[in-house]
Amino acid sequence: MSPPASRAPVSALTDWWETMGVAVDAPLVEALLAAAPAVEAAPEAARSQEVPALRRRGARSVSDWIREAARIASGCATMDDLAAAICDFAGSPLKGSCESTVVYDGIAGAGLMVIGEGPGAEEDRQGKPFVGKAGQLLDKMLSAIGRSRTGNALISNVNYWRPPGNRNPELDELAVCRPFVDRMIEISRPKLIVAAGGVPAVSLLNSRDGIMKLRGNEYSYTTPGGYTVPLIPMLHPAYLLRRPQDKSRAWRDLLLIEKRLGELG
Ligand code: URA
Repeated sequence: MSPPASRAPVSALTDWWETMGVAVDAPLVEALLAAAPAVEAAPEAARSQEVPALRRRGARSVSDWIREAARIASGCATMDDLAAAICDFAGSPLKGSCESTVVYDGIAGAGLMVIGEGPGAEEDRQGKPFVGKAGQLLDKMLSAIGRSRTGNALISNVNYWRPPGNRNPELDELAVCRPFVDRMIEISRPKLIVAAGGVPAVSLLNSRDGIMKLRGNEYSYTTPGGYTVPLIPMLHPAYLLRRPQDKSRAWRDLLLIEKRLGELG
């Protein structure tokens, strides 16, 4: 249920605290609530994850580009076709400001598919996902449960182009990538998807909750083509580099992933 309108800014703050691992101070929240001016409820469209027709690329609107991405993706039968199609796609507003299109690394057809947020500086330089410091930590985390990108894991992202200054991708930037993400899942048919971090978890699950609420649970993801797969959100390795005190949470995430992979065969 959504919070009442006047509590919305306060819950945004407390959600953010929770995401950042800060214990929520109830009396302080109540004091903030008492002091908060009454605000109008935002229109439903503004609060949902619906993609606003924000930007045009060339002669096309964002929805035109999403349709075009879906058309192209549905015509791809192999990972090679798909990777080539993503590299040729001109519908992301980010494409002009980065060096590479970063599609995937690892084993197509592996039981485990890790989906992250998108390339950072090192990934943009090398054209491969998760090859910077966070990527090195991801490799160690996977190795702790017997997985690797060279043996039995596929690694990709919900966005294929580095946003300027490493900001989070915008909704329209994610939306034009989604048909390709879905097609990659349909082609590779993983037994389990791990969403690494809040951006892919929230985007794939279309959730209003942050990663701290989503992690520790299993969800189900179904592509538009009808492939259904379990999805487990975990803490992003870049977050763990900033907050090593959350290692025990990450370890619990990994144990859940290992257990489910064992059960899924
Ligand atoms: N972080 C991500 O989420 N993905 C990458 O590819 C690199 C860093």
